[in-house]
Amino acid sequence: MSHISSSSTNPSPSARKLCRCGGYIKTWTSWTDLNPGRRFEACEMSRRNRGNGHHWEWLDAPTCARGKELIPGLLRRMRAMEEDLKLIEEQKKEVEDKLNMVEREKKELEYEVGELCKKKRLLEEKRTGQ
Ligand SMILES: [Zn+2]
Repeated sequence: MSHISSSSTNPSPSARKLCRCGGYIKTWTSWTDLNPGRRFEACEMSRRNRGNGHHWEWLDAPTCARGKELIPGLLRRMRAMEEDLKLIEEQKKEVEDKLNMVEREKKELEYEVGELCKKKRLLEEKRTGQ
């Protein structure tokens, strides 16, 4: 399991602060079991590690007990659903590929039927012409 999985928000460029290393300080959200949903501000160069000279600061108070109890389970369910969705999307693509193949075969067969009908008509014309 990842130490801290986070997502950044995008403040407007003028609102951007810089770490003393020169990296941008951004707002992130922690999704660990200990701090689910808790936002922090950290240097983009070192958001996963505190205390190494880069800017790192909690923005929110600690997640309440109920949140700590509920959010990790919800996240696991959400990730499981995302995995299921990925599988379904892959299956959908396979079915679409097969459908395309069948459509191509159908067009080929329609063309062949058209050719056979032309030949049949010519033969009939020859026969009735005699
Ligand atoms: Zn930094």
